[in-house]
Amino acid sequence: MGILKVRVYGDEVLRQKAKEITKISKKIHTLAENMLMTLYAYNGVGLAAPQVGESIRLFIIDVTEANQPKHPIIFINPKIIKKSGAINSYEGCLSFPEVYTDVRRYKNVTVKALNLSGKPFVIEAKDGELLAIAIQHEFDHLNGKLFVDHARNRFETDEKLISNNLNPIDMDYFLEEPELEEEISQEPPKQDE
Ligand code: ZN
Repeated sequence: MGILKVRVYGDEVLRQKAKEITKISKKIHTLAENMLMTLYAYNGVGLAAPQVGESIRLFIIDVTEANQPKHPIIFINPKIIKKSGAINSYEGCLSFPEVYTDVRRYKNVTVKALNLSGKPFVIEAKDGELLAIAIQHEFDHLNGKLFVDHARNRFETDEKLISNNLNPIDMDYFLEEPELEEEISQEPPKQDE
């Protein structure tokens, strides 16, 4: 077991479409364990296999707070089977050190996946809760999409990327998402913001 090296934006593995897992082998179990160690070492919420250089359809999420007992969820060959609503999400990514920006996300998602025993499960995450956001963020990684592709303010995000010595947004991958943007911009700002 060990902490894995996290690939940084610019590494081409982050833009590849990851392959389906056909057998949940010992190697997959070890990878998942090492990914969890890596996630906790970096205090992250989620980590996808391509971020550690493995272009396969596996990601892990743990949304529990730092002082709570850990509750990791491992997703193998996930599919998002339902999505609705739209919400602003202020996000970062372990592959983008120090960069945080506002992105568009669905508010509610339902995901179906296999666990490490190969058993299917379904999770419904609602109201823009952290789990709903994390599922979309990590699922994107399996399709070579990155959170900055959903940036609401492209110019501001570019400034943040460049000031952290990362490449600006790649317009070949940038997503305009006018329907999501319209719904988000109509939401009244939250009281606590
Ligand atoms: Zn990420």
